[in-house]
Amino acid sequence: MQDLKVVLRDDEMPRQWYNIQADMPTPLSPPLNPATGEPIDPEALGAVFPMNLVEQEMAQDRWIDIPEEVLQKLLIWRPSPLQRARGLEQALGTPARIFYKNEGVSPAGSHKPNSAIAQAYYNKQFGIKRLTTETGAGQWGSALSFATQQFGLELKVYMVRVSFEQKPFRKLMMQTWGAQCVPSPTLDTEVGRRVLAEFPDTPGSLGIAISEAIEDAVSSPDTRYSLGSVLNFVCLHQTVIGLEAQKQMEKLNLYPDVVVGCVGGGSNFAGLSFPYVRDRIHGRNVRILAAEPTACPTLTRGPYAYDFGDLAKTTPLLPMHTLGHDFVPAPLHAGGLRYHGMAPLVSRLVKDELIEATAVNQLDSYAAGMLWARTEGFIPAPETTHAIAAAIEEAKKAREEGRERVILLGWSGHGLMDLKGYEAYLKGELTNYEYPQEMIEKSLHALDGYPKL
Ligand SMILES: *Cc1c(COP(=O)(O)O)cnc(C)c1O
Repeated sequence: MQDLKVVLRDDEMPRQWYNIQADMPTPLSPPLNPATGEPIDPEALGAVFPMNLVEQEMAQDRWIDIPEEVLQKLLIWRPSPLQRARGLEQALGTPARIFYKNEGVSPAGSHKPNSAIAQAYYNKQFGIKRLTTETGAGQWGSALSFATQQFGLELKVYMVRVSFEQKPFRKLMMQTWGAQCVPSPTLDTEVGRRVLAEFPDTPGSLGIAISEAIEDAVSSPDTRYSLGSVLNFVCLHQTVIGLEAQKQMEKLNLYPDVVVGCVGGGSNFAGLSFPYVRDRIHGRNVRILAAEPTACPTLTRGPYAYDFGDLAKTTPLLPMHTLGHDFVPAPLHAGGLRYHGMAPLVSRLVKDELIEATAVNQLDSYAAGMLWARTEGFIPAPETTHAIAAAIEEAKKAREEGRERVILLGWSGHGLMDLKGYEAYLKGELTNYEYPQEMIEKSLHALDGYPKL
């Protein structure tokens, strides 16, 4: 059989999401209220997220039906193709076969609309009229702009000021899809006014933008906040990726030896890998590998601990691998991989040795991205290049060992809006960053006095 590309029919699209909480050998520790150290009361989250999503966050059912309206929207671009990277294989001279699940075909150009569509739908169902969110590089903001437009909701995106100024195209995508996109900090919120009074020239930060978006959401009854990664329900919505991939590999009569993806907050990786982690829990021999930047080594060097999801300490304490909520990222081009924490689900599975992690430095990741662009054509997002670099390592090992292997790669998005990073690489301006150990230790002191895991 031809195996360069496997495309599923619309009626082969998965009808249910897979919830790994039903199969995890160790259940998740609950999110804690930082004031009391007790598990958070779900009702308390109701001001921030609609209750139907809060319930989904805690659901233990193995399979959760994808609502028909969500399915219809996902069908705009899904099922996404599974493709074979034969050009790359040939360039590497490897006996390994490399397949990639191409999430770059969505309207926003990444996997993020998989959850944006579902979140817009559930908010609409709950009677919410307007959403707020923050965005750094602009990928989540643009995905949610597309999704809210599909369901007739308003959206206000707080975009970190420096990105707002440096990345006009993502902002224009959001505006084209009808969203309001403002440079954060703004004068529209308490937090924003306070920061601007003290630091009028601040470039802004993700932490400030999150605080603004949450404040805006909780201060009006028909508005809620939306988050594009980390949470259980975001990982859940992304599992269409892995469920489709399993069907596609089955059509080739193949099963991967290793499944590789990049991790920022963990959602695209969770989406591709969790159906395979399930197989692994049930005894199947498959390796699951998460690739992160050496500049933000959450899984490879951050401890598993209770920490806040944001700098302003507005979130509950989450059980996760973390570099500390006051982690200061290096100016890395893979903006989506700069988060200090990691999805609690991914973190727990790493802790239980069902998932392995590796760190890739910036120059190796761009070199991998260049090789990919020149052999396969598609230009990958800077985040995606980390997964590619890790897959290339696996393919080289296969060559050295003279072994056939099947590698499945999560191709989380295209890099057509991120060409500035490629420009810097081509001009030789990029450098590697290793996050200093003493900075990790210093950040972790910020957790002294909070409950331990
Ligand atoms: C946002 C983003 C990521 C990182 O987010 P996860 O939640 O870890 O998936 C990775 N790749 C692309 C293309 C992104 O836009």
